[in-house]
Amino acid sequence: MEIVLQNLTKKFPNRDKKKKADVVAVDDFTFEIPDGKLIGLLGPSGCGKSTTLNLISGLLKPTSGRIFFGEDDVTELPPEHRGIGLVFQNYALYPHLTVRKNITFPLENRKGRERLTKAQMNEMADEVARLVQIDGLMERRPSELSGGQQQRVAIARALVKRPRVLLLDEPLSNLDARLRLQTRDEIRRIQRETGITTVFVTHDQDEAMSISDEIVVMKEGVVQQTGKPQEVYDSPANLFVAKFLGTPPINVFEGRVQDGHLYIGKDAVLDVSSVSDQEVWVGIRPEGFVLREDGPFCCELDGVEVMGRDISVLSRNAASVNPRVRSIIGTENRVDVSQPTIRFSLRPDKVFLFRKETEERL
Ligand code: ADP
Ligand code: MG
Repeated sequence: MEIVLQNLTKKFPNRDKKKKADVVAVDDFTFEIPDGKLIGLLGPSGCGKSTTLNLISGLLKPTSGRIFFGEDDVTELPPEHRGIGLVFQNYALYPHLTVRKNITFPLENRKGRERLTKAQMNEMADEVARLVQIDGLMERRPSELSGGQQQRVAIARALVKRPRVLLLDEPLSNLDARLRLQTRDEIRRIQRETGITTVFVTHDQDEAMSISDEIVVMKEGVVQQTGKPQEVYDSPANLFVAKFLGTPPINVFEGRVQDGHLYIGKDAVLDVSSVSDQEVWVGIRPEGFVLREDGPFCCELDGVEVMGRDISVLSRNAASVNPRVRSIIGTENRVDVSQPTIRFSLRPDKVFLFRKETEERL
């Protein structure tokens, strides 16, 4: 089921009486979610992710704009008629019901021709329980399950109605780090096996990058960039997106373009013949530094951290926005930490220039 969001806007009245203006939680959001894909909705807390998801689910009505599921305009349709499955951060299971009863709960109240027999409901519950691999736990109560297992029950309950669309709002946030990785892979597998169009909301860029077919990066209600995770990482549209994606994060410097050269401080670090003379923000990915004794970019060496496959070099530079510059180089390199400075050349494809005022990519 393809989902089309057309100029979606959601305003809330401002609770702060001194401020008259409405809160624009989602601002003119237009996007097409392709059928059968998993879309990661990504951005910092408060940027409008949950509001967007709740507009898709029908729990909220948009202030303006329209939502289509395939050919159907569902903008006015109540949530129960949209064919959606919802999963939230807190699993919201019924504590007094068994896993089986929790899963069949959404099926219990069907009326008329949709009414199901007990045997049919059990069969459907068994099927989704196998899919999310909790079929051995059907007679337990939620308190007898781990957090990861509880979240699987919540996913099974969302899937048992055979929804057209699966909506997940920070589903992994309550899990510890290891379980988070494992459950994230599980969600990806389940999504692939069922082929249900899925929207996955998270503030964690790692999570969104690893699980999504496409990501949508939001800031203050406004979509900043959409695309395949690798494409967005390799070609950020603005400084916000560049800073939001990547661990360790991108290094940002004040720089200047003059006569086709990019300067950071006094160092002419790169040729940028296509850019006109101006002040710029320079973003350099940690993997964009190449250790070279005669390299053009000089930093004051602070130290190194060896982390298995890589060496992380920590240094300082007067033009750096962050207190430390972090560069990642292969373990085949040797860094002489007794030296006061270190020199790099830069990989052009890992260096991004942004306009000083708008922070748009140049
Ligand atoms: P996210 O899920 O990305 O953290 P939300 O969608 O929950 O962000 O919120 C987006 C913005 O809308 C925030 O500024 C939030 O305070 C505001 N907001 C959300 N729900 C309401 C509401 N019911 N009333 C007023 N403001 C709200
Ligand atoms: Mg939220």
